[in-house]
Amino acid sequence: MTATPQQLADVLRPVKHVLLDFDGPVCSVFAGFPAPEVARRLREGLLATGEQAPAGVEEENDPLALLRLVADARPDLTASTDIALAMLETEAVRVARPTPGGESVLHAAALSGRLVSVVSNNAGAAIEAYLAAHGLSHYVASVFGRAPGDPSSMKPNPRLLLEAMEAAGAGPEHCIFIGDAARDVEAGEAAGIPTIGYANKSGKGIKLAAAGAVVIVDSMQLIADALV
Ligand SMILES: [Mg+2]
Repeated sequence: MTATPQQLADVLRPVKHVLLDFDGPVCSVFAGFPAPEVARRLREGLLATGEQAPAGVEEENDPLALLRLVADARPDLTASTDIALAMLETEAVRVARPTPGGESVLHAAALSGRLVSVVSNNAGAAIEAYLAAHGLSHYVASVFGRAPGDPSSMKPNPRLLLEAMEAAGAGPEHCIFIGDAARDVEAGEAAGIPTIGYANKSGKGIKLAAAGAVVIVDSMQLIADALV
């Protein structure tokens, strides 16, 4: 199922602007500070303010899903929950695990004269902290994290991709998005941008292909090799 170098080269040939998801393609955000632990801390913060946890919050182990849940049930708590999550994500990226080949994609994009934007449901501040800590800031033109206090901005909403495209001034025919979730592919489709599916776990490739990814890779290095 993994794309051949030729298929990748064909997909990447017209590309001037690489839009890159963060958690997955660049690093594993919650590798050192596990997502269920982050979710637990987020819940504790909510309860510490004397608030009653909305229904379903106790069982949710995905911090970003938890933010959505809070936003749906208690819009008044969205802003403060988002700020608390952004702080926890910033803590998490200090011990995140870099994705093999992720850095190479940034280098290769720069070497080949392409612009890179990071487009992610994670907090922009956390992404910028990671890039700075790893000496990668100058490879990235702009970071588009979820709109603070507005989790509806998160993919599969194409909003962040459209903002990134607008900022770069390249039309969708000159863009590629690289993501590791079906919602990335859906967001790409809604924005009119083809998406390369990064299948970093077995079984993911099928989901990404079903969602409409133009090609599937199981290694970021393959994309880096095809960019140069
Ligand atoms: Mg991801």
